[in-house]
Amino acid sequence: MSDRARKIVRVKARGEVVRTLSEVVEEGLELSVLNATVTPDSITAELAVQAPEEGQVREFLRTLRRFGLEVEELEKTLIHDEETCVHCTACHSVCPVGAVLVENHEVSFDEDECIVCGSCVEICPTGALKIASKEGGE
Ligand code: SF4
Ligand code: SF4
Repeated sequence: MSDRARKIVRVKARGEVVRTLSEVVEEGLELSVLNATVTPDSITAELAVQAPEEGQVREFLRTLRRFGLEVEELEKTLIHDEETCVHCTACHSVCPVGAVLVENHEVSFDEDECIVCGSCVEICPTGALKIASKEGGE
């Protein structure tokens, strides 16, 4: 069970987003870039933001908004279809944060650790994994 607070956000910025992020990242805060789209005049990126305290995550997002970035909080979750899963463990080998557990040749997912990066979804040979919004949409 993780004791860190986490938010998945979509950030849109014009200009030097990387410099802006590096200026406001504080000690203890962790950023994972899940994907990014670059156009000639803007960058849109999905980030997993983690910190020991929920308040640090919120303050980070407030600071980004003060810097003029558009910040949208996303409520995404990983869905594992047990019926379709053949427990090949391919997802275990690609997970960057150790959120896929293997016990007695069966996989399970630690929702508290998962940053919803989608790597396991891409590699799953049976389509047993998908990313959905927490409200149930996709
Ligand atoms: S990659 Fe897909 S089929 Fe293989 S263990 Fe993971 S969820 Fe199951
Ligand atoms: S989406 Fe899959 S690979 Fe990514 S962190 Fe979650 S369990 Fe691991």
